[in-house]
This record gives sequence, C-alpha cells and structure tokens, in this order.
Amino acid sequence: MRRLLLALPFALLPLAIAHADDTTVKHGSLGTHEHGTARVNAALDDQTLALELQTPAMNIVGFEHLATTDADKAAVAKARALLEKPLALFGLPAAAGCSVTSQHLQSPLFGDAMPDDDGDDDHDQHAAGEEHHHSEIHASYALTCTAPDKLKALDTAQLFKTFPATHKVVVQLIGPTGQKGLDATPDNSALSF
Ligand SMILES: [Zn+2]
Repeated sequence: MRRLLLALPFALLPLAIAHADDTTVKHGSLGTHEHGTARVNAALDDQTLALELQTPAMNIVGFEHLATTDADKAAVAKARALLEKPLALFGLPAAAGCSVTSQHLQSPLFGDAMPDDDGDDDHDQHAAGEEHHHSEIHASYALTCTAPDKLKALDTAQLFKTFPATHKVVVQLIGPTGQKGLDATPDNSALSF
C-alpha cells in the first residue's frame, strides 16, 4: 500500500502518507486535527484501489481517551468492526468486484503507541500541559477491483452515515482522469474518479 502510493504522483497528499507505516504519525500539528473533519486519500491505478482514512477519534467513537469503561471499550470494538469493512464504509459498488487485499488500522485507542503517549494517560499529566490530549484513528486499505471501470465515484455518504459526528471529509483522489480534491459534506459527498 505504501509503496503503491509513493509510486504515484501524490503531490497533494499530506505527510501522513510518508509515515503510513510509522508509529510516530504526528497529529501534533493540530491544524490537521479538527473535530468533525476527516481526511480520505484514494488512488485508483488500474485494478488497484488504495484508500486511506485519517480522522480524529472523536468523530468515530465520541472520545479520544483510552477506553477504560465497558461502554468505551464496546464503542471502540464497534468502530473497529465498521472500519474493517471498507467496501461498505466507502460504498463501493458490488459491480466493481473489489476485494480487500490488505488493511491496517492504527490508533492509540486500539493500543498502538503514539509519540506523545508515554503510556501514562492520567489526568494530572493533562492538567500540566496546555493541550488537550488528542487521538486519531488512521486506516489504510489496499483493494483489488476486477471491474474498476464500474468505480464511477468515491462516495463518502456512508462514512457520514456510519460516523455522524463527521461533518466534513477532505477527499484527495487520483484516478484515471488525474488528481482532484473535494471538501465533502453529507450534501455533496461524491467525487468522480
Ligand atoms: Zn481531538
């Protein structure tokens, strides 16, 4: 997945791509961490479709702390199950014959270490700092689609429905017609390939 993306002219893609396999993905630049806003990067190259979702955990589970209560843990497990079904989440048409070849989820909420996470998530530490402790969820997927011509558009409608705390999705896409972007909203959710 990472190799594929790097092989493409992803001039618009954020730094996260270069660090896709790096557990030190930075969300310290809070300009990219805005509650309600998620990012989707997509690249279609022949039959290979690469998708990447970057979102504040707030948009997905409604909190950004480590899950300690049963309710929080259930919310994380539910979110993870939804994120593990990219065909549904991205509303890919069955006619395109897409199947997942690999997928990777990463988040402190899933137990992944992050750079500013010293493993001690107590509140005293937070009170000492000026910043709220933010957490993101990153998901990357590689799919193979036997009929990619049936992929007319990348539609984030299901993403908005599945995670209704998401109000905007910054979509960047590379397809057969080139590179394009859209600040998708529930009323304007699709970007053609
Ligand atoms: Zn946050």
